[in-house]
Amino acid sequence: DPRVLEAMRSVPRPLFVPPSSIRLAYGDFPIPIGYGQTISQPYIVALMTEMLQVKPEHKLLEVGTGSGYQAAILSQLAKEVYTIEIIKPLALQAEERLKKLQYLNVQVKVADGYYGWEEHAPFDRIMVTGAATFVPPPLLKQLRPGGKMCIPVGAQYSVQYLTMVEKSEKGAITMKKTLPVMFVPLTRGDGEPWQ
Ligand code: SAH
Repeated sequence: DPRVLEAMRSVPRPLFVPPSSIRLAYGDFPIPIGYGQTISQPYIVALMTEMLQVKPEHKLLEVGTGSGYQAAILSQLAKEVYTIEIIKPLALQAEERLKKLQYLNVQVKVADGYYGWEEHAPFDRIMVTGAATFVPPPLLKQLRPGGKMCIPVGAQYSVQYLTMVEKSEKGAITMKKTLPVMFVPLTRGDGEPWQ
């Protein structure tokens, strides 16, 4: 998708990795960002973004802000991006970074993204960047009819499948497994994975 490629070209990935990893920023692999978390591999960022078919008028939810990189990419393609991060220092750092780089249509919240962001629901698109063994029901509920969600589904340390969830205009849910991936787990407030 040319719009996705353009967004990937415009967002400066080196500014989203720790200073010691700047040289590696454009390598096609995930990079540690502290607290046991990673900034996702650029190929996967682009692929998930393309799969969501984001339109300029869309309101998006991302679960798992991490570095803020994926949120910055999405902010170039959508009207509004709401992103939730459970690790406070990562959320605050990402928020500051996004503001400094003028990605002003992104809002960051510190919370367990399993529960979504009720005040801003429904969302046209939802992207989850941590793996769970099932699709969180609150996220299904907050997806607008006609909306799409992209989420890695599978157990921790095992194969997860990037899954496309679609909600029809009448509210029927369909899920389609796509490629195998490996994501950090979606965790609960107590640090244990959602499973
Ligand atoms: N999208 C990120 C990569 C995220 S890695 C980027 O572009 O850099 C996954 C992130 O999800 C981690 O930062 C992790 O702390 C966060 N996370 C894990 N469980 C979560 C939950 N329940 N709610 C919100 N964030 C969560």
